[in-house]
Amino acid sequence: MEGKFEAVLHDDYYKDIELCWFSCGLIADKKEAAQIIKKLAISHPMSNYLHLKRVKQFNDELHVLIKRVEDNEDSMLFIEGITQIYTIQVPLKKPLTRKQFIESQKFWNCHFFEDKKLEKYVAGLMFTSEEIERHKCYMKLAQDEATKIMSPAGGLIVDPEQDIILARGYTNTKWHPLQHAVMKCIDEVARLQGGGAWNEPAAVNRTSDDKRRISVDIDGTAVEQESGAPVEKRSKIESYLCTKYDLYTTHEPCIMCSMALVHSRIGRVFYIHPDPFAGGIGSRVKIHCRTNINHHFEVFRMHDFDKKDLYNE
Ligand SMILES: [Zn+2]
Repeated sequence: MEGKFEAVLHDDYYKDIELCWFSCGLIADKKEAAQIIKKLAISHPMSNYLHLKRVKQFNDELHVLIKRVEDNEDSMLFIEGITQIYTIQVPLKKPLTRKQFIESQKFWNCHFFEDKKLEKYVAGLMFTSEEIERHKCYMKLAQDEATKIMSPAGGLIVDPEQDIILARGYTNTKWHPLQHAVMKCIDEVARLQGGGAWNEPAAVNRTSDDKRRISVDIDGTAVEQESGAPVEKRSKIESYLCTKYDLYTTHEPCIMCSMALVHSRIGRVFYIHPDPFAGGIGSRVKIHCRTNINHHFEVFRMHDFDKKDLYNE
């Protein structure tokens, strides 16, 4: 099955447009239009509605917005040079996407500055085919991490610049209630930088030097380049924890893990399975989109990628 990537963006980008009521009228004499608009800008400024064009030409007539009309407000107005005053619904907010812009234009002309990168993200077309293969391959390895010990979830943290895996983790809450796959991966990166909180559980038979450089061939084959060779430690000056790193996790991080990703300054997160009960970057909340946090990161959900697809494609 052909999988696809969904950028998990702020809800505002997917919302239907909202409307509000404005009083509007016809400019009686077009020659006086500039003068009337100038006066309106002073008497009825539209500073909260700069996305709306003040004038719209329709059937060779100039219609001009006068002011917003609140609910139950008497819309009766007398403005010199403007006739046939009526109320009309116009877009309340500026359009953020081309889809919203096209919808907004049906009601009133709006200003719109297209963000080409955003449009690609909304359409799910942000990665090249080569990048997609690489993401799939890393996700396969994250799935392998989980299946090794029949853990519910597995993850990897990758440095995409060097194309190496820095940390691997799986959910192991039997050993420690906070040891979710994501927390485990972050802790492993912290250990590479001289920190970290957890020692490996003996039962899992992993050693502290089990941090191997792993490259991923473009054909999707994971290759351990040099078994046992430790990954170079990154100094704290060079990088703060997970800055510019990618996390691949089979399951959407919970809210606790999502906040840990904020604190660790992760670059991008990829996941397959949403968590409708505790998901922190898509299902319950979108922590990475909140304006009141001091770090934001990109999130992508991989649809229709089950293990069989990842192995066979
Ligand atoms: Zn978690």
